[in-house]
Amino acid sequence: MTIEKDAARQEKLAAVKGMNDVLPAESYRWEWLEAIVRELMAAYAYRNVRTPIVEHTQLFVRGIGEVTDIVEKEMYSFEDRLNGEHLTLRPENTASVVRAVTEHNLLYDGGKRLWYMGPMFRHEKPQRGRYRQFHQIGAEALGFAGPDVDAELILLAVALWKRLGLADWRLEINSLGQPAERAQHRARLIAHFEQHAALLDEEARRRLHSNPLRILDTKNPAMKMVVESAPRLIDFLGQESLAHFDALKAILDANGVPWTVNPRLVRGLDYYNLTVFEFVTDRLGAQGTICAGGRYDYLIEQIGGKPAPAVGWALGVERVLELVKELGAPVPLPTPDAYAIVPDAVAMPVVLQVLQRLREAGVRVQMHAAGAEGMGSMKSQFKKADASGAAFGLIFGPDELLRSEVSVKALRDGSGVQTTYPLADVGSWAATLQSPASN
Ligand code: ATP
Ligand code: MG
Repeated sequence: MTIEKDAARQEKLAAVKGMNDVLPAESYRWEWLEAIVRELMAAYAYRNVRTPIVEHTQLFVRGIGEVTDIVEKEMYSFEDRLNGEHLTLRPENTASVVRAVTEHNLLYDGGKRLWYMGPMFRHEKPQRGRYRQFHQIGAEALGFAGPDVDAELILLAVALWKRLGLADWRLEINSLGQPAERAQHRARLIAHFEQHAALLDEEARRRLHSNPLRILDTKNPAMKMVVESAPRLIDFLGQESLAHFDALKAILDANGVPWTVNPRLVRGLDYYNLTVFEFVTDRLGAQGTICAGGRYDYLIEQIGGKPAPAVGWALGVERVLELVKELGAPVPLPTPDAYAIVPDAVAMPVVLQVLQRLREAGVRVQMHAAGAEGMGSMKSQFKKADASGAAFGLIFGPDELLRSEVSVKALRDGSGVQTTYPLADVGSWAATLQSPASN
């Protein structure tokens, strides 16, 4: 059988459902967001952390909680064929960060501010704003107990929305109190739901005694009434919890950050206490939460570390970028400053040297390279130069090369002005560019 026939029989392979390629037509938006995030994190003195994508399954079972959507049905878990270990593709990154901080004893000399970005994996039904591989950017402040750092994290997110040109969000906050307060509330909550057992769906009935708080987080509209009439956790909070909550509100007020208390905001993960919050928008349909977080003072201990308070948030990159598309700042296309037009391939050894020098001087240059049919006509090269978005064409024609020169032609200002520079002195042209490689 010939190779050709064989190839014709091969089926085209597609990406796994719910896991997406990010192609150049989109990836420049990702890079733009990432650059802004890097700058902002530095401005707040958060340091980057990178943890493995695969962890022991037990980390998430212990960290996120057994009776949660994630652990019950969304994890990509598998047994390592070689040594039988139970492993999971991380569905979120807080548990991993806490594991790393504990494992490397990072809190020995005080609190740490950390941030991360990367892919997360959850086996959910793919739909707009909900994917099986998605990406989060997160910030975690570990070892700090006060509402000041809760506020810092929220202000950091608000600063990010501002930099991205996003105005259409609202901040919902709530306090989950402390375990003792939750225990009191829990008993009343169970009583309430037992009284209205007929109104509960199957999942709620299953969680009634294992994790009744999570019933408040239901997305089932049929349970709206029974959830809204449930006893509110906030009414069970003691002085200290309320003081923490009030201090947070006061800092937000002083900074002009609008907030609303949503007493049913309990968050999908088990590990939160005191402050929880979400940034929500109405612009993205059902998947309107762009960023969510809260305090998790008991997680570090749960994962085996020395008890220490902590708080953090994670944002969904896909959702944030979709919102940027709808109403955010214009994202600059990454265009080269110049396109090198090379009529004859014999010029290439010289051309590549010159371009190398220009790039060292900070000029972004796209080189015309030979296609399957060779270099192509001048006309087709100019067309490509135009399509590249470059402001200048660098023409390495035979006449120019004879004189050891290059012609620089303005392509986009309508003037068509053409100037020649000695090859040895292209640097003086580079210097005339206003701010090479800065836009
Ligand atoms: P949801 O209620 O939408 O399922 P969640 O409570 O499970 O969200 P978190 O675990 O708090 O979400 O994750 C933080 C953020 O990550 C979310 O607010 C959202 O922006 C994003 N996110 C979560 N799951 C997905 C997903 N499957 N696809 C895309 N983004 C997601
Ligand atoms: Mg979820």
